[in-house]
Amino acid sequence: MTIDLNIVNGNLFLGSEFRQGGISIEGERIIKIGKEPSLPKASHKIDAKGAIVIPGIIDIHVHFRDLQQKYKETLVSGSISALAGGITTVLDMPNNKPPTDSISRIQEKEALIQNKAAVNIGFYSLFPKDNSEIAKLANEGVFGFKIYPADNYYPPKDNDSLNRAMKEIARTKLPVIIHPDNGFAGETEKQLFATDLPPIDAFIKAHNQLEEAKALETFIDLSNKVDGKLHCAHVTAKETVEIITKNKDLQMLSSEVCPHHLSLGVKELHKFKSQAKCLPPLRTKQDQDALWQALNDDVINIISTDHAPHSYEEKHCEFEVAASGIHGLETLVPIMFTHALRGMISFEKLIPKMTTNPAKLMGIEHRGELLEGNFADIVILKKKKYQIVSAQFESKAKWSPFDGYAINFLPDYVLVNGYLAKEEEYISSKATSGKAIKNSNEKLNIE
Ligand SMILES: [Zn+2]
Repeated sequence: MTIDLNIVNGNLFLGSEFRQGGISIEGERIIKIGKEPSLPKASHKIDAKGAIVIPGIIDIHVHFRDLQQKYKETLVSGSISALAGGITTVLDMPNNKPPTDSISRIQEKEALIQNKAAVNIGFYSLFPKDNSEIAKLANEGVFGFKIYPADNYYPPKDNDSLNRAMKEIARTKLPVIIHPDNGFAGETEKQLFATDLPPIDAFIKAHNQLEEAKALETFIDLSNKVDGKLHCAHVTAKETVEIITKNKDLQMLSSEVCPHHLSLGVKELHKFKSQAKCLPPLRTKQDQDALWQALNDDVINIISTDHAPHSYEEKHCEFEVAASGIHGLETLVPIMFTHALRGMISFEKLIPKMTTNPAKLMGIEHRGELLEGNFADIVILKKKKYQIVSAQFESKAKWSPFDGYAINFLPDYVLVNGYLAKEEEYISSKATSGKAIKNSNEKLNIE
């Protein structure tokens, strides 16, 4: 029997440790992992030359915009950006124009990626206006329900209706994903921008660390009452880490951290201004230290990008009016592996936080681990010294506060569902092997 492809001579990351060996791929799946002599004959071979071979990265927090915001990013341009960065599965956020909060909107987004996406894409929903839609959305395969307390994206502003919605979500066993900020942060920001306070200081004050921590604490209480799952997006503050540590034993609570909050701080915000404007804001050195400690202690178990692309005009303007959010997909892997090489975290601790942990938490089946039978989502990482050049990003957002950042690793080969979609700097024009994925709750059929 001759199969499609063998990757040989790799330093394979198998669950929790590195082993020398090779991987055989037939169709969309990994069929064998072992030493080269034991692999079946293949029609193609990639010699990894001792490079690190890891499962395709899973990023549970991206904004692919599309619909009325195609000028920022589309599901397809975002997917190619992910591929370029070694990310093979993403979960897309619902704060779109128009908002993603109904089955028809999910189906509309799925139709946009049919036979077009370079990587696998799943979707979140906002809290729908009508609670009876929650079970239907869960059955449709969404991965969770996002809430932006500081925004107008969801109806329940009072605790009673919020409670009812969270109770309904708890029944689906899917998580509520919270953007930790308070309900009046937007108003405070407006008021502070109108004072003499320098704009950056006003922004930081409006979205400060204590409010982030308090918002999470409120939602932990609400989730506990309804026995629901809660996932805290982009943790940035020492105070938030303390809340998570205090509740470490709660099975229902999970959290994530982003590379920009680990790598950049207030100093960089003052230097790069609008380019580095994001929510939550970049924080102090003390906060950064707390995040690194939390990652190393497994208090925070997931790393995500919060890839939030905006147009040139939206990021090259006065700080007060600039859009919040920065590019993340093409910098995640290079930056995090470079941090690991410099000793900030071990490779063994880092890799599961971008592969197995997000897969387990979100119920993404047969991905996130190099395992016989799993989908062949695979990245070969080459050691290479270079600097980030944002003008060369595949994303529509070709600007970044990481421009010029020194890097030691490059996602060299990327396979998505067994298809070699990226080979060195070359992205295949046929990189459309990504799938619309659904939560594994789908079969539950919640009434
Ligand atoms: Zn986000």
